[in-house]
Amino acid sequence: MSPNSVPNRRSFLARSAAIMAVPAVATLAGGALAAPASADTLPDYAPIPPSALGPAVNAQGYFAGRVEKNLYWVTDSAYQAAFLTTRDGVVLFDAPPSIGHNLQRAIDQIAAENGVPNKVTHLVYSHHHADHIGGSSLFGADVVRIGQVQAKQLLASENDPARPVPDVTFETKYTLNVGGERVNLAWHGTNHTPDNSYIHFPGHDTLMLVDIFLPRWVPFDSFNLNEDVPGSIAVPDTAMAYPWKHFIGGHMGRLGTRADMAVYQQYVNDIIDGVKKALGTVDPTPFFAKYGNNVWAASQQYLAAVVAYASGPVIKKYLGVLAAADVYTASTTFAILESIRLDLGFGSQVHP
Ligand SMILES: [Zn+2]
Repeated sequence: MSPNSVPNRRSFLARSAAIMAVPAVATLAGGALAAPASADTLPDYAPIPPSALGPAVNAQGYFAGRVEKNLYWVTDSAYQAAFLTTRDGVVLFDAPPSIGHNLQRAIDQIAAENGVPNKVTHLVYSHHHADHIGGSSLFGADVVRIGQVQAKQLLASENDPARPVPDVTFETKYTLNVGGERVNLAWHGTNHTPDNSYIHFPGHDTLMLVDIFLPRWVPFDSFNLNEDVPGSIAVPDTAMAYPWKHFIGGHMGRLGTRADMAVYQQYVNDIIDGVKKALGTVDPTPFFAKYGNNVWAASQQYLAAVVAYASGPVIKKYLGVLAAADVYTASTTFAILESIRLDLGFGSQVHP
């Protein structure tokens, strides 16, 4: 989509679907419903850099394109899935419900163009989250589902008919061979979730890893809601150790490059540096002097001041570089601040 074009209704709906969980969360957190929002009074943010936007979606609300050779990706500009066509059928990687029935439409389109089978025979789960695999049941029972062993445990306990448990699981490594193609799945520890898997396509120069690095965008709220912050911070080093040229991050409208990942890693490192500097600079005394026995009020205001000190220069540096730097950098800084205090013990003092 060109920066000046008006998104069509379908792409608008796709984006709305992608964020529909947010109002529910806000309602839970805020208690009573606030007055209805008016577009006129909502805050303004910096424009999205054109480099962060991907190809326009078609009339049905999706774009499907080649990553390399017979590996393809499909996006609704908020979510991404991938598929590999083979002589024996199609291997699908994730099934975001926001793309939904457009997954098979995209596969049909590409398979017809290339004269290859369009039947999905295998479905690989990147991780157990519903927003990435909630379209799984659309592919019926006659599909081999593959996921990390903790994905199976989590899905079994979540018991969601939209997300059948994987038939094939692995602990640390699995090689999938279908129709002469090879895909390497690996688990390198907890990061975004306990089951998040690296999906490497050695014959296609591509790595797929979902919900960590979203090319040309800052992470979603609170550092992508990553369950293990240190584990997530360590991901780029692990990912860069693989040979790849193309990156599929699971979100937004474009693929990533190694240079994009280096920018993302620098962004996270800048937040970490800012947090450490802020913890050594912002004096907590006035906050506790003001709020007395209301320890939460003092903590909330002090930590907000630390976040503002740490995130301010980062927002300034990345505006125009990473999309939505002014939207989510502060909440990601808070998540990283809490991890630096609690997981790493930085700034922790023992009472004399
Ligand atoms: Zn997720």
